[in-house]
Amino acid sequence: MQYGYRIIDELKAGLNYYLPEKGVEHIGDMVGQGLDSVSDSTDVLERDSIVYPKFHRDECVGCGRCYVSCRDGGHQTISFGEDRKPYLDPKKCVGCHLCVLVCPKGAITSSNRRIKK
Ligand code: SF4
Ligand code: SF4
Repeated sequence: MQYGYRIIDELKAGLNYYLPEKGVEHIGDMVGQGLDSVSDSTDVLERDSIVYPKFHRDECVGCGRCYVSCRDGGHQTISFGEDRKPYLDPKKCVGCHLCVLVCPKGAITSSNRRIKK
């Protein structure tokens, strides 16, 4: 979501390094290797607690990436003030941390896990 389709070329290049490093001759040998960690039920997810993003506005450069990514790929939880700083609505935030991942300045970190109200 952050880098667009050009990331496919980087994924292919990365695989060209990864496969020989792991001693894998054919990409097909990896198919299904991660299935043990996949569940077909969302009931196994822990939903009683949440880790909110923590905004460090003194380090923020006002690029708006967190706002756009939460608006388009998250839960429309961040508003962008006239000061070009992000503000969180904790009632709508699900703690997905997409905003943390896209911030180019590391101005968003994780807070402590807390029990949902
Ligand atoms: S954690 Fe997810 S839902 Fe919450 S503000 Fe960040 S992107 Fe939006
Ligand atoms: S992504 Fe980071 S630097 Fe950009 S507006 Fe959000 S908090 Fe500020």
